[in-house]
Amino acid sequence: MLNSIALVGGTHGNETSGIQLVRNWRQHGLPQRFSDLNVSLNIANKEALAANVRFLEQDLNRQFTFDALAENNIAKEAMLAKTLNEQLGPKGNSKTDLVIDIHNTTSAMGATLIILETDEFHIQLARYVKHHMPEANILLEDEKPYLEHGYLCTTGKKGVMIEVGAQPQGVLREDVYLLTQTMAEVTLDFCMAYNEGSITTDALPPCDVFRLGENVSFPLDEEGYRTAMVHHSLQDADFKPLLPEQPVFRTFDGKDIVWESDSETYPHFINEAAYFKLNVAFATADRIIL
Ligand SMILES: [Zn+2]
Repeated sequence: MLNSIALVGGTHGNETSGIQLVRNWRQHGLPQRFSDLNVSLNIANKEALAANVRFLEQDLNRQFTFDALAENNIAKEAMLAKTLNEQLGPKGNSKTDLVIDIHNTTSAMGATLIILETDEFHIQLARYVKHHMPEANILLEDEKPYLEHGYLCTTGKKGVMIEVGAQPQGVLREDVYLLTQTMAEVTLDFCMAYNEGSITTDALPPCDVFRLGENVSFPLDEEGYRTAMVHHSLQDADFKPLLPEQPVFRTFDGKDIVWESDSETYPHFINEAAYFKLNVAFATADRIIL
């Protein structure tokens, strides 16, 4: 039973869709059909939002490991994480049954539901969302146990993220906003059905899920400067199969660098602006059935 649900926007202060959805639902109320759900509406990083930046000092969405929460770190987001953990969690012994944290990406990932576990609940959620929103992508990040992630949503007993793009930082696009709203509503529809006991795994068709592989870096020279950019054929091709020998980068002297692997992969977070400093060009994924 999901007795308490927290919907969160503004974990990153320049990702406007979730912020706007929280504001609109605060002002006008949630759609009537969700009146039986107990949903809190939260803006996580108000200072970053006011400054229209992802974060002020440290990435808030990496502060929620047990180690980080226990550290005596005086960075703004580290302290904010402790406050949010009190409010939503505490992590590991949470008063919140489900945290839904809403993000935007500058990558063309459409509406993506990020799940961190593959237990019965999350299989049902993934299948339900894909069934009722066929354009949705489901991304699974289970490379480590749920509670080892540093994500804000792990303050809940269960936690998921909604990641929608492509949208530039600080910009609100109608198409991206509407996808965000639809995915949030479908997720809450699932919560209603789950609480009513009307969900069974077998009644929902199995769905394609992209399982996170690894990050791929831009090629750099000895001084750390990039020697290539994302190839035009890869740009905006998030979750489309990338086959061996297909180009991934175009060097600044006009040569193609190809995908040197034995197998296809499903790139995503392609050219994500927030990963600029990390020099991450994209992440890989395998396609599995859940
Ligand atoms: Zn984000």
